[in-house]
Amino acid sequence: MVELTHPKTFPYETVPSTGQVAYFSMEIAIQPSMPTYSGGLGVLAGDTLRSAADMGLPLVAFTLLHRKGYFQQHLSPAGMQSEEVQPWNPADFCTEEMARATVAVEGRTVTVRAWRYDLEGRFGHVVPIFLLDTDLEGNSGWDRGLTDHLYGGDTNYRLEQEIVLGMGGVRMANALGLQVNVYHMNEGHAALLTLALLESQMGGGPPGAVTDADVEAVQRKCVFTTHTPVPAGHDRFSTEQAIRILGGDRTARLEKQGCFRDGLLNMTLLALRFSRYANAVSMQHGKVSRLMFPDATIHTITNGVHAPTWISEPMQQLLDERIPEWRRDHLYLRSAIEIPESPMLAAHARAKEELLAEVGSRTGLVLNPKVLTLGFARRAATYKRANLLLTDAERLKAIAAKAGGLQILYAGKAHPQDEPGKGLIRQVVEEAAKLSENELRIVYLENYDWDLGARLTAGVDVWVNTPRRPYEASGTSGMKAAMNGVPSLSILDGWWIEGCIEGVTGWAIEDGENDTDEANSLYDKLETEVIPLYRDDQEKWARLMRTTLAFNGSYFNTNRMVKQYTRNAYYPQRLAEMAKVQEEAYAD
Ligand SMILES: *Cc1c(COP(=O)(O)O)cnc(C)c1O
Repeated sequence: MVELTHPKTFPYETVPSTGQVAYFSMEIAIQPSMPTYSGGLGVLAGDTLRSAADMGLPLVAFTLLHRKGYFQQHLSPAGMQSEEVQPWNPADFCTEEMARATVAVEGRTVTVRAWRYDLEGRFGHVVPIFLLDTDLEGNSGWDRGLTDHLYGGDTNYRLEQEIVLGMGGVRMANALGLQVNVYHMNEGHAALLTLALLESQMGGGPPGAVTDADVEAVQRKCVFTTHTPVPAGHDRFSTEQAIRILGGDRTARLEKQGCFRDGLLNMTLLALRFSRYANAVSMQHGKVSRLMFPDATIHTITNGVHAPTWISEPMQQLLDERIPEWRRDHLYLRSAIEIPESPMLAAHARAKEELLAEVGSRTGLVLNPKVLTLGFARRAATYKRANLLLTDAERLKAIAAKAGGLQILYAGKAHPQDEPGKGLIRQVVEEAAKLSENELRIVYLENYDWDLGARLTAGVDVWVNTPRRPYEASGTSGMKAAMNGVPSLSILDGWWIEGCIEGVTGWAIEDGENDTDEANSLYDKLETEVIPLYRDDQEKWARLMRTTLAFNGSYFNTNRMVKQYTRNAYYPQRLAEMAKVQEEAYAD
């Protein structure tokens, strides 16, 4: 058994300091009309690529095509979720590459092709995204469907998809003639790319003993980002599955390399074993990840969002007038601190009107733009506790009355196989119907996606998040809100531990012994902090909005994040090299 003291740090001189990065992600939110993503991970991947394109980074990306799309959500009046596939036509958006690659799945040879999407940055720099597709003549009927469904099917299907993504992606990069110096695994789904690199390092597949030099050659090229704070969230496969689908020799090889835990092939261990750099996605998530993988070195690069994608049109206009440099360098968003109160309120009022108009056209409900409006939209997983806000109906009604009205907008899809998550949606919808009266309006909006997410985070007055600690690795929707000057009222978990300055960027819901305690803290903060400020002092509210945007917009963006990846993960030796240039200059 190998001791897992990885990722391994190499001397600067032995790692390339330039060259192309290949970014691998199971899902990427490429543009709103392409249903190639499910939620946070895909949106983060898309925002990463948008920033890379804006910043001129030499980067390409690999993902799966997901021909049937992530599902469209319908809700019955009682809150029963039903799902509909969203098939889409790749040729409407992408061009087909002629190159082909093959992978072995369960002993069968599966041919893979790629569709290319050119993501263009603000100065015209292109980040090509290759969407891998197995729907080709010559592949069996089953294999043709391997790239159909994002997070669909069982664990066999998942492992087969991961072979196509990881191993197929590396081979496709070769077939396309791409020179890649750094492979970035965005979550463990792509970990099998290390196996393809190992095999090409060794001049072919099994058999043969793996040497330390072989492992190090792969490690030099690989970096890994973990996104999951709970053990069950890490992709794991049984030995039987691994032997059947990957093959006996490969499975034995991975076992020897220490990639099994509790008798299961663990994709996080695999990625850690073969990387020279690994990171978590918030400071808190870093701590949790180091507890889960005590032998690994796990750094942190906190997530961000792509500012121009998520800031509303009216707010962008205001920023263009007041801080035109913000587009070139998001650090200048810090100067939002100087924007006067009334244009700040006016820009938000326009975003709010647009949101309420959208709600009206979707539901027929007329909401009041003057009334304090809370937003809660995210995947309906039970740990996110969408129902926490509705714990005490009487108290919530009293709060609404005191506030002069309260509107709560909900949205979120449950994974099709997540029955408890679906139950949560039903519960919220039922409660909403019971509670909604003149002063309190609760609406659950169907089909949470990029477009609705953008409208909600820009248009509500306060963004609420109530995960059970420490299940939230980062969360990014609160960052989108902050970019729009919208403060958060949230549990101190994930990014919010770093982002919360009490009364300046929002408010913390205090940790409690149980859900009831935390619900009470949420109500207390609404009653004593949020409502008095919103109701009685709009000037002060505007100042809160601008400090939110200044402090959190300038930091929690993907331009800062991509810079950190570039300096700390992709090319850490660049700074050392520059220092050497200077030393040599002085030596002369
Ligand atoms: C931003 C976004 C997410 C991720 O937000 P969380 O805060 O992690 O829940 C999920 N889904 C959509 C559609 C988004 O836009």
